[in-house]
Amino acid sequence: MTIARVAIIGLGLLGGSIGLAVKARAPHIATTGWDRDVSVRERASARGLVGTVCDTPEGAVADADLVILCVPVGAMGDAARAIAPGLAPDAIISDVGSSKAAVADALAAALPGACIIPAHPVAGTEQSGPEAGFATLFAGRWCILTPPEGADPAAVAALSDFWTQLGSKVELMDAAHHDLVLAVTSHIPHLIAYTIVGTASDLEDVTQSEVIKYSAGGFRDFTRIAASDPVMWRDVFLTNKGAVLEMLGRFTEDLTALQRAIRSGDGDTLFDLFTRTRAIRRAVIEQGQDDERPDFGREHGQ
Ligand code: NAP
Repeated sequence: MTIARVAIIGLGLLGGSIGLAVKARAPHIATTGWDRDVSVRERASARGLVGTVCDTPEGAVADADLVILCVPVGAMGDAARAIAPGLAPDAIISDVGSSKAAVADALAAALPGACIIPAHPVAGTEQSGPEAGFATLFAGRWCILTPPEGADPAAVAALSDFWTQLGSKVELMDAAHHDLVLAVTSHIPHLIAYTIVGTASDLEDVTQSEVIKYSAGGFRDFTRIAASDPVMWRDVFLTNKGAVLEMLGRFTEDLTALQRAIRSGDGDTLFDLFTRTRAIRRAVIEQGQDDERPDFGREHGQ
């Protein structure tokens, strides 16, 4: 199964980055794209995110071997229904959604009988829109495919090969397991960032200007995550409810244990945890998932 033509539906950060990565790393693959927002289509065209920006979803997917839905997870069903009339019968339908079980259900309901292989490139930024994409977003990052039971192995191999060409490392996973793993590694960290930034901005004894002025103490690193797209993240929490609530239960217990350690002056518990977490940071860097420069690589004046 050869992928010669890819249609990208949704031309924001993820869709735009796929288009640019194909252009840079796999120029033999033709790309088309569509977004429901006419202004996004115009800006995508101006940036050359895909070879052809089409005016209709049917036009974008006509003759595509692979269609990738790059819209918020709550919009996957609508986007799939919009492309249905134009799909080639043997096209592979995939997506980049951050939660997988709910998206798999939405796609299967909208496109009965289609070859659906959901995927999640674990790569992103807090930016969104057609100006946000860049060709190297996926380089060295994992892309998790969650093929349903009975999925065509040739289609899985073709999709895996596509992501490898964009520079990703590919792993296959069951959708439910994906949702649990990402609840811990992505969804709960975002929820914590949204909470701490919200709490700080609601405080009465500490002014907002103080929060911003002294943010280099740690707070500013949470503000980057908490600046992430509100539509995308609302949908992630609504569609990965079970796994997020399960992990949030564990997190709350651990937080309570720390609260107790602080109250009782139990320095050993705090020290042991902080030593273990430092080792996790070292492992993240050793595995090439972050920059080893101190302070997230920020440049500092002398
Ligand atoms: P984005 O920059 O906001 O782009 C999404 C685009 O899809 C927007 O232009 C949006 O238009 C459009 N859209 C919404 N509903 C649509 C529909 N029914 N049909 C066609 N286009 C539609 O978002 P993104 O960051 O690329 O996220 C896209 C997907 O990637 C999400 O499912 C997200 O979970 C996943 N993802 C994101 C990241 C990340 O870090 N951002 C990482 C990995 C995976 P409007 O503006 O008009 O709504």
